[in-house]
Order: sequence, then structure tokens, then C-alpha cells
Amino acid sequence: MNSRKPFIAGNWKMYKTCSEAVETAGKLVKLLSQTSDVDIMIAPAYIALAQVHEAVKGSCVMLGAQNLFWEKKGAYTGEISPEMIVSAGCTYIIIGHSERRQYFGETNETVNKKIKAAISYNLKPVFCIGESEKEREANDTFNVLDKQVKIGLEGLSQDNMQNVTLAYEPVWAIGTGKTASSEQAQEVHLFLRNLIEKLFGENIAESIRILYGGSVKPENIAELMTMPDVDGALVGGASLDADKFMRIVKFKTVG
Ligand code: PEP
Repeated sequence: MNSRKPFIAGNWKMYKTCSEAVETAGKLVKLLSQTSDVDIMIAPAYIALAQVHEAVKGSCVMLGAQNLFWEKKGAYTGEISPEMIVSAGCTYIIIGHSERRQYFGETNETVNKKIKAAISYNLKPVFCIGESEKEREANDTFNVLDKQVKIGLEGLSQDNMQNVTLAYEPVWAIGTGKTASSEQAQEVHLFLRNLIEKLFGENIAESIRILYGGSVKPENIAELMTMPDVDGALVGGASLDADKFMRIVKFKTVG
């Protein structure tokens, strides 16, 4: 048994208006008790962060944002700084999601800048990595992940790494209904933990949480969580519904 606390995070992507987000967050708070043996985070759209923060205050649900820009402030129309995200009540920040890489041109290098900016404001990055279907079929999965991790985490200290969570999200499994088998997830998570050990040492490798993401739902979470190196999940679609998300969070007791 390891001592890593399970972590279930919900990525609400570009769904829910402000009032819908507040309603879902409120439902979730009611469904969960005040404390939890699982760390829980939801990441609504920027526009709803401050209101959702009010809705989850004092509960076990923590708040995250889905992206940031690395500069402190300035003429960057449409961008949001780390300080702004902190001021809206966020503790966590999702960085490098495959949809941002795919549709908004994020690279391993810009992801690295974002991770460093987040850490300098004490935001905890949930750093997303994952291979495409083509890359998996070409047997390139481990090379792709190696590069994403090495560049994404370049220049970080062991101390910085204490606040980083990895999220392995095979692109072919996101929003497709195709989940990686628990064995496929375990194989990659173990590879990632070994890589982290090479880069940052044994203690960081032992303590870092590695989440799986890709069509996680109440029906498959318990099986995934039996894997020794799967420490939780980053959930997209199924996190939009408070009841489903609660059942994922309570994977130990609810089917
Ligand atoms: C995600 O957006 O990170 C994700 C894993 O989505 P889904 O659960 O819908 O596949």
C-alpha cells in the first residue's frame, strides 16, 4: 500500500453557464460530506470560477482552472494570469490538456512556462500528457510521454515537484467512450513513475500522484483504482453531472 491520497478531478471544459455551474457545484457539495478520504477538485470555465468558489467554500471540494497565461500582467487580450486565478479562489490548475495542445497550439515548451508560472503563485499544476492513437499504433507512446515530461518539467526543483500532479490522458480515450484497460493505464503509470524517479529522485516518484483520464465513469473507476500506480482520475464528461461525479469520488463504496 502506498501513502498517496486518491485524487479525483473534474474538468468541466467549455460547458455550463455561470448559474448552471453554481447549481452543479451546490449539488455536489450536498452529496459529499465535509471531509473526504479523497482529494476532490472541479475546474469550471474561468467565467464561473469566483461564483463556484462561493458555492464550494468550506466543503471538501477544491477549485481549479483549466488554463493560464504565464505572464504576470500586461496587454494580452483574452488571457488570464496566475494571480487572477488565485484571486478567484483556485488551488489547482490544469495545464497542457490535449485539447489545448490540439486546438490552441500549446507545445511542450509553453506548457513548461505555464507550469513554472503556476508554481510561482502556489497553484498546484495538474500536468496533462498523453499519446494520440496514431502514436500508440506506431509504438511511440513511451517516446512521446518521455518528451512531454522532460520538456514540461524542465527546470523544476524537487521542492517544486511536491505540488505537481501528473495526468496521463491517452488522447484516443478522451471523450470517445474508449477507456484504456486498467493494465494499459498501469503500464504507462509505472513508466511515468520510473521516469520521475530518474529525473527527481525516489521520494518524489513515490509521492507524486498520477491520475488517469479518458472516459472515466462510475462503472470503470473502481477497477482502474485497483492498479498500484493509478492514484485517481481526471474526469471530463462524467464530471458534469453531480451524481455521477459523486459516484466516481466514492468509488470505494458506490458502484
Ligand atoms: C478530460 O477532459 O480530461 C477527459 C478525460 O474527458 P472524458 O472523461 O470526457 O474522456
